[in-house]
Amino acid sequence: MKDLKSYIRTIPDFPSEGIMFRDITTLFGNPAALKHTIDLLFGHFRNDRVQVVAGVEARGFVLGGALACRLGAGFVPIRKAGKLPHQTIEESYQLEYGEATLEMHLDAFGAGDRVLLIDDLIATGGTADAAMNLIDHLGGDVVGAGFVVDLPALGGAEKLRSRCDKVVSLVS
Ligand code: 5GP
Repeated sequence: MKDLKSYIRTIPDFPSEGIMFRDITTLFGNPAALKHTIDLLFGHFRNDRVQVVAGVEARGFVLGGALACRLGAGFVPIRKAGKLPHQTIEESYQLEYGEATLEMHLDAFGAGDRVLLIDDLIATGGTADAAMNLIDHLGGDVVGAGFVVDLPALGGAEKLRSRCDKVVSLVS
């Protein structure tokens, strides 16, 4: 198996000038790389008695859904504003480029449930922080957060460690 990094391509100036976008659709599209990614995340969280995987739209759905199946957990979507059909709670946050709002269903899981947060990439950590706020709001017990890519220069993973003991990324 090649280094996971080699399956990720960099697109300059996307979605705006000056951004080097790490495109992991190429990793998702490779059967061996996708399986290896899920295997690695599973290895990190298999003993954490995860009950719910919360995945952030949209690439967190791909990873989170597959991982939830492996862990024997349920899956909860954290979505951009206006997409979820039932009552939601919401949290606004700053992105690397712009501002956004995340929502989760009010009845997504019960207080005390063991929740694992999953997204494809952590940069400034604004998205993960907002997602953690949503999980906290419902009284979820955050067992960890998992990402394929960490961009350490932006400090998000380091910041997240101050509120979550187990922050895992596969590629830096
Ligand atoms: P943050 O909030 O940590 O600054 O940004 C992370 C969020 O933005 C994640 O939901 C991630 O999907 C998205 N994101 C930001 N930059 C990139 C990038 O270069 N590649 C990918 N795949 N996602 C990114």
